[in-house]
Amino acid sequence: MPRWTLVAEPVRIQKALADAGLASRRAAEELVAAGRVTVNGTPAVIGQRVDPDTDRIVVDGHPLRRTPQRVWLAMNKPAGVTSTVTDRHAASTVLDLVPPEVRKSAARLYPVGRLDQDSEGLLLLTNDGDWAQRVLHPRYEVEREYAIGVRYELTRDQVQQLIAGIALDEGLATLTGLRPASGIEISRMEELAGRSRHRLVWYRAVLTQGWRRQLRRMFATVGMPVERLVRVRIGTLRLDGLRTGELRPLSAAERDRLVADTTTPRTRDGEGSGDRAMRPAGRRQVVVSIDGPGSSGKSSVGAAAAAAMGYRFCDTGVLYRGLAWLAAERRTDPTDGPALVALIPEMRLAPDEAGRLARVVVDGRDVTPELHEARVDRVVSAVAADPDVRAALLPVQRRLADGGGIVMAGRDIGSVVLPDAELRLWLQVSLEERAARRARQRNVDPASAQGQAILDELRRRDGLDSSRETAPLRIPDGAVIIDADGLSFDRTVSAVVAAIRTAERRAATAARRDGPRHPTQESR
Ligand code: C5P
Repeated sequence: MPRWTLVAEPVRIQKALADAGLASRRAAEELVAAGRVTVNGTPAVIGQRVDPDTDRIVVDGHPLRRTPQRVWLAMNKPAGVTSTVTDRHAASTVLDLVPPEVRKSAARLYPVGRLDQDSEGLLLLTNDGDWAQRVLHPRYEVEREYAIGVRYELTRDQVQQLIAGIALDEGLATLTGLRPASGIEISRMEELAGRSRHRLVWYRAVLTQGWRRQLRRMFATVGMPVERLVRVRIGTLRLDGLRTGELRPLSAAERDRLVADTTTPRTRDGEGSGDRAMRPAGRRQVVVSIDGPGSSGKSSVGAAAAAAMGYRFCDTGVLYRGLAWLAAERRTDPTDGPALVALIPEMRLAPDEAGRLARVVVDGRDVTPELHEARVDRVVSAVAADPDVRAALLPVQRRLADGGGIVMAGRDIGSVVLPDAELRLWLQVSLEERAARRARQRNVDPASAQGQAILDELRRRDGLDSSRETAPLRIPDGAVIIDADGLSFDRTVSAVVAAIRTAERRAATAARRDGPRHPTQESR
């Protein structure tokens, strides 16, 4: 079982105030900026993380009312366990898998929708009725993706029948995206859900309807009974990392994104929309890339700016570092592209305590502390230069930017991964200053021989990253260049925040000019 506690996650002060019903997030920011809010006796700062359960938050001299404990969980439901919590005849229900202390403090916990007793995979549990309703409401057609295991390959005729839709008592049952599962998907899914007793052929399909045993009945109608059915995704949330029977709390970002996706009904052409509609009215969050050479501070600056703006943050460098670490562990040749690509499913990107996607988990173990060791530094540029590796990591990174409101740091984010990012930043810092910063981080005198070695290593990596054929390190077209040489950390962050604010204003103006992309936003 993953380690987790029920203690409320730290949230930004403005969100804590908004959650307590005191003000909108925007108005809450103003309260904080006006110095009317203190946390444990000290004036609060916008973006500051607080724990509403333990921190003493005071507004204009009045302590903040504590909000009731609400819980949002994701579970990998095993086959054989019923998700109907009121079924008194059931041998065991999903609630038996929830630790007793969680059940106790989160009264009235229930599953969000059902998953048949013999089906497995992603199931959400909560005691937040409004949220559950939004996730479930048919009007919003939240996608559910399934891995479907059958005995034999489907014939072309069977595939056609399934795609055309199957007449059931309720009406025409349809699915979308029917396709064979890839080798990586199968091994990843079996790693989490367990191997099958018989050899099975796996397909993937997406449902937006949720009729009783719909997929099983559809497949049975075409003469191919389903042997195993695993739900691998609900909306933006994937089964990633949860083994059978395990559960974990959703992060605030996961929880919000799941309903953010459903805030506006899908447009008729099926394109998801409304993903920004949960954000404060009048603001339009954007996608921000921040690239630059090693030790330019893009990760710490990007993370601080993201926190100040209420954005998500991802340091893509850890993906390459994680893979280089894995290659070293598994004694894989760091220039063997296909072998490296095969290692990718072993690692998982995870949020740190502050919600930044900057940790790498392998086999349930957080290996982040080892990602900056010299053995990783030595091979990471070779790993990152491999075109197969870069191609395989591209969709992983792009998916993260879905929905906007993210700062992504790396080497090729603005040039290759997200060339359409509304704001592309380049952090300019001289080699000497970068080497001196890194030396000081490691308690080394920059003028010493060791300091010189750090400079040489950085220069070598700059050279490799800039000269590689695929996605070389370069200033993205149209980038805003921030010359951070000699600039303090705080001033660099302020410059980034100012650039994001400008980009948000520009995006809002463009949206007004081009007409509403998100109908509900206009009516708010
Ligand atoms: O930023 P960091 O130094 O942690 O990145 C480690 C290495 O990963 C870089 O030297 C670079 O070779 C590679 N990288 C990349 N593209 C990215 C991020 C990192 O090639 N977007």
